[in-house]
Amino acid sequence: MNTDHDSQIATCIEQVRARIQAAEQRFGREPGSVRLLAVSKRQPLSKLMAAHAAGLRAFGESYVQEGVEKQQAAAGHDIEWHFIGRVQSNKTRQIAEHFDWVHGLTSADHARRLAAQRPSERGPVHVCVQVNLSGEASKAGIEPEQAADLIAEIEDFESLRLEGLMTLPAPAEDFAAQRRPFAALRALRDQLAREHRPLPTLSMGMSRDLEAAIAEGATMVRVGTALFGERAPV
Ligand SMILES: *Cc1c(COP(=O)(O)O)cnc(C)c1O
Repeated sequence: MNTDHDSQIATCIEQVRARIQAAEQRFGREPGSVRLLAVSKRQPLSKLMAAHAAGLRAFGESYVQEGVEKQQAAAGHDIEWHFIGRVQSNKTRQIAEHFDWVHGLTSADHARRLAAQRPSERGPVHVCVQVNLSGEASKAGIEPEQAADLIAEIEDFESLRLEGLMTLPAPAEDFAAQRRPFAALRALRDQLAREHRPLPTLSMGMSRDLEAAIAEGATMVRVGTALFGERAPV
């Protein structure tokens, strides 16, 4: 074990937790209402394990193969695995078999495939619908006007648990501009939520903009670089 590198990650976790707590307090959010998802994509397993040793339990991966390899290497540890990458049709089986959450659902076909391929003994997979709120600046996610239809399709599958909405905005420099797409995601959630379908999760905010996301109601921030440092290139 490389203890230097472990204590460095422990320090970064403390800093990120302090940022989350400060933002919860500043923006009138309930303490502890924002979950930290550690984005370990393109980071070595040793760093993921150091973060686990420091108390983190939810990890996000963007590449199916890499995620599955890490899961096998970390078998026996109490970890919740989140798939945060782009879903591709030829990868849905592996995603359904290996991950607990899928953040970037963007098509009814993918929903159908995940639902059919989810092993029943694993229980439902938690899903968020990814919405594009940056217009032309981002190509990832469905348009807000399409969200109601996709949600209606997902609701029918017992092996999918519809958690809410996710967005990954284009970078914005100032705080007001960072808040805009997050405010729009929350407004969309409020519009689509029903008593039987509360859409409790807003998966939004990353290293550079987590405060803006928390200000607008994020319940889960996905943080990579601020915890682990720069990633290896793809
Ligand atoms: C990589 C990634 C993140 C983490 O980004 P950082 O800037 O490293 O915090 C969050 N969400 C998604 C969907 C990602 O792909």
